[in-house]
Amino acid sequence: MRERIDRAARAAGRDPDGVRLVAVSKTFPPAAVQAGADAGLADFGENRVQEALGKIERAARPRVRWHLIGHLQSNKARAAAAAFDWIHSVDSTKLLRRLDEAAADAATAPNLLVQVDLAGEATKHGAPVAEVRPLLEAALACRAARVRGLMLMPPWNEDPEATRPYFRRLRELRDGLLDEGIAPAALGDLSMGMSHDFEVAIAEGATMVRVGTAIFGRRTPPR
Ligand SMILES: *Cc1c(COP(=O)(O)O)cnc(C)c1O
Repeated sequence: MRERIDRAARAAGRDPDGVRLVAVSKTFPPAAVQAGADAGLADFGENRVQEALGKIERAARPRVRWHLIGHLQSNKARAAAAAFDWIHSVDSTKLLRRLDEAAADAATAPNLLVQVDLAGEATKHGAPVAEVRPLLEAALACRAARVRGLMLMPPWNEDPEATRPYFRRLRELRDGLLDEGIAPAALGDLSMGMSHDFEVAIAEGATMVRVGTAIFGRRTPPR
């Protein structure tokens, strides 16, 4: 996996060290995380807080970092801010404030990403494009949590080339926000790309790819 990532980065003229692999261990048991960590994986992604907590408890930190990649309900913000190193699914100012408050109380410093809804799919999660800038501005007031960039979960398409325009639009959105004066420290990361399309995402600027199936195998039931 790492070799494919490095190759994709070099092909795009990028430094492979600029792409972090997040191994998505959702639905797999703690033993799978342990095996992955023993094989050198350092970042693990989960999409449900409750499911993740048991695995996080067992894992050898700080060697292993935990990423929440799934939708976060505000009533779980407290648990998430205490347990995760990265939270990829911040999609409202209200959730941002809750996470920051909870992080301050727990004396943690989670890294946050703003999930963007580029497709305007009302049924999906993510902040509408027009709300990304206000969210980043609100993040300036955070005391404990830190916003580090943007995350994208594009509409599913089997063909990675069909998803490329979404990856590109997230990068262009980031570049536009930088031009408008948003601090680079809040826009350093782009979390995009999964098992079947991470190479295209890397070509379009991903700094974090979230890969499950291609590492751990097929999930039953899939989600
Ligand atoms: C499950 C999941 C992934 C990983 O998907 P694979 O196709 O198994 O690589 C990535 N991102 C999110 C948000 C997920 O829920």
